[in-house]
Amino acid sequence: MSHSAKFMVELLNLSNQGVYVKDRYVIFDRDGTLIDHVHHLVDPNLVAYKNDLIVALTKLQEHGFKFGIITNQSVIGRGLASLETVNEINRQILDYLRIHNIEMQFVLLCPHLEQIGCQCRKPNPGLGHVAEKSFGVMLPKSYVVGDQESDLRFGKNLNCKVVQVHTELQISPLADFFSGTLTGAADWIIQDSKREEV
Ligand SMILES: [Zn+2]
Repeated sequence: MSHSAKFMVELLNLSNQGVYVKDRYVIFDRDGTLIDHVHHLVDPNLVAYKNDLIVALTKLQEHGFKFGIITNQSVIGRGLASLETVNEINRQILDYLRIHNIEMQFVLLCPHLEQIGCQCRKPNPGLGHVAEKSFGVMLPKSYVVGDQESDLRFGKNLNCKVVQVHTELQISPLADFFSGTLTGAADWIIQDSKREEV
């Protein structure tokens, strides 16, 4: 192997570990945020995308944001679905986004029941730190978007700004911004990140 080729390989490995290259991310919750909330979703046929999902993520992507999903999937811990089934649902979502030229860099999930007290269930920050180390998420310049209080507390635990999106729940005092739509959330994030640059 020539010197330059070896150098390239090392450089790629380093950037994959996020050691030198860190990016601004928007980390999304899955259920109730990117897709409609279905109680204990275990059937890929019941995935219904939010109306403005593609428009909102396209805007954010054009402004240089990368994306990931972090989701609590206690359906696995409850024995209602296998990890395989949950992964199939996730793959379906990623395929749908990819058809529309939107890349998700990662999907991280907690399979546990709340009473187990694991570090990976939101609002605990465990999976956020995994995302930081493995995918180069620049936490202080990143945003967490979700519908539940646990999503917002998760984001705050990571020092991210948090946006709450929903049409039915109470507006949380933790939210840096609230929007009924993903497009509204995207517009605010883009404006907010520009303010931060000044
Ligand atoms: Zn967990």
